[in-house]
Amino acid sequence: MATANGRRSDPVSSVAAAHLAPISTARRLVVKVGSALLVEGGVLRAGWLDALAAELAAMRAGGQDLVVVSSGAIALGAARLGLPQGGRASLADAQAAAAVGQIALAGAWAEALARSELVAAQLLLTLDDLEDRRRYLNASATFGTLLAQGAVPVVNENDSVATEEIRFGDNDRLAARVAQAAGADAVVLLSDVDGLYTSDPAAPDAQHVPVVDEVTDTVRAMASPVSGSGLGTGGMLAKLAAAELAGRAGIALAIIDGRPDAPIARALAGGRGTLFTAAGEARAYKGWLGARARLAGTLEVDQGCAVALAGGASLLAAGIRTVEGSFQRGDAVGIVDPARRRIAQGLVEYDAAELRAIAGLARDRQEQALGYTPRSAVVHRDQMVLL
Ligand code: GLU
Repeated sequence: MATANGRRSDPVSSVAAAHLAPISTARRLVVKVGSALLVEGGVLRAGWLDALAAELAAMRAGGQDLVVVSSGAIALGAARLGLPQGGRASLADAQAAAAVGQIALAGAWAEALARSELVAAQLLLTLDDLEDRRRYLNASATFGTLLAQGAVPVVNENDSVATEEIRFGDNDRLAARVAQAAGADAVVLLSDVDGLYTSDPAAPDAQHVPVVDEVTDTVRAMASPVSGSGLGTGGMLAKLAAAELAGRAGIALAIIDGRPDAPIARALAGGRGTLFTAAGEARAYKGWLGARARLAGTLEVDQGCAVALAGGASLLAAGIRTVEGSFQRGDAVGIVDPARRRIAQGLVEYDAAELRAIAGLARDRQEQALGYTPRSAVVHRDQMVLL
């Protein structure tokens, strides 16, 4: 059986007792609420939200720090503006819907939490806020202060200003990134399904998967690419991507059925859910680096170099076969092996033109190509995360 730290060759466990324990033992927990749970027919499900707030208050009283990541702005705003397709017909519609819906959403959370004697705080984040190291640290400090004061941050993507290139798009991955920034130990995604199934949950032979130790291609093949409700953008693939991001940062992630009242207590008391164990390294800087989503370029390395990187070496120019993209020194780049599998990512020491000039060259020939003494590495191992 898998444990939170167990690594096994089979990525999926079939037996799991008390497998959702990392949710109840988390010192700091991120709870993500999907649009389909909060909004029905364009109207907020106030009773359900009140019950959840009461449940969160009980968890808070038990000593857990809580951060909420809540969707629903677009769905609520679209109903108020009378926009088609739930406000998702175009990015412009989604941005307008979010601007209207976010006020209502934040108000509803503030009131529901206040009824359970909790203080709500609103944070609207864009991808850039978490990609840029300085802004990431600012967000992280704000989470720290709010949580120390006992407030419950309620986070959403700042959809009204996020354009296609700079948006997460789904709150599943946002929740995983927020968990890192807030220093959380676990994430629970409240969904309209009770976890991962071996195939489409509607299929007669689909089996529920209680524990996943590693998100492999086999696991990904089980997931349906679309959100069941059509309201959010999540879908199981986004949830798997979130689980990977979280796991890489040493954070466990669970998907549970959010539909019943008090869904977390219910899942912990023996309900179903899928737990993705935290397998990755928990070092904060590397966690941030590994979660960087916007890569400015790709470096393809030869097989010998790929093996050396896996063994902990820094990336040297001699092992690079091709340089793709246009990037500056300090940008994040992906590193792929000859089979184009992404094996690492990190911060590059050269801009793209310089790197093209020295790719594949031994060190003694690099100086002539560059016109200056080459740096010790193209991507130093301290600035690189193996994937
Ligand atoms: N940020 C979006 C909203 O509040 C939801 C994104 C998602 O569906 O995950 O409506």
